[in-house]
Amino acid sequence: MPDDVRTPHPRHRFDRWPERLAGRTVRSVDAHGKHLFIRFDGELTLHSHLRMTGSWGVYGEGARWRRAAHRAWLVIEAGGYRVVEFDGPVLELLRESRTRFDRRLSALGPDVIGERFDREDFLRRLRAQDQSRAVGDVLLDQRVLAGIGNVWKSESCFAAHVNPWRELARLGDDEAIAIADFAHERMTRSAELDGFSSRPRAVYKRAGLPCERCGTPIRSHGQGDDNRTTYWCPSCQL
Ligand SMILES: [Zn+2]
Repeated sequence: MPDDVRTPHPRHRFDRWPERLAGRTVRSVDAHGKHLFIRFDGELTLHSHLRMTGSWGVYGEGARWRRAAHRAWLVIEAGGYRVVEFDGPVLELLRESRTRFDRRLSALGPDVIGERFDREDFLRRLRAQDQSRAVGDVLLDQRVLAGIGNVWKSESCFAAHVNPWRELARLGDDEAIAIADFAHERMTRSAELDGFSSRPRAVYKRAGLPCERCGTPIRSHGQGDDNRTTYWCPSCQL
């Protein structure tokens, strides 16, 4: 049972989570992609999604935090340890039954990060989509692949020589696997190195600069319902 729960970030100042979570035992903690679910007694679940900026840290008594205290969104204290979420951006307290919750989890595609990446599940989910959807758009769909963000979407397509605007119908299984494998291997390594050290930057935020393979200027354009910016080389990504 946590000794203390605090939500220092101003956005959550009036949420009264500390009061609502006081005295409740943590039932389980599940990570799925960049989603983290902390289930408390009484069907309260804390859901966080780290997007590109967030991170979790676990600190012993008196240990120095990796990021500044004002960037902490959630601090849970238990047994002399502090579990801290830095830099949000998605943090919500859900009240839902276990079954509804499990359904939500199973709707998520295979976790791109971790030892056991399920390629077949990924392919099955990819082919269950509308095949006129663009590759770059579908890669951000958490129901197909959980945890891939906007940087890795662009970089993985570049690594696999696939144009992110190509229709799924024209994407071979081997190409889909090549994209997913790159994301899986590099993101897993990056997660082990705390998120930043091995992040490739061949195309992301390099619009107008020459492609490292062929020298053609990199292009960028918003893609999908959320209009997330996609970066690609128009010459060597077909
Ligand atoms: Zn190129």
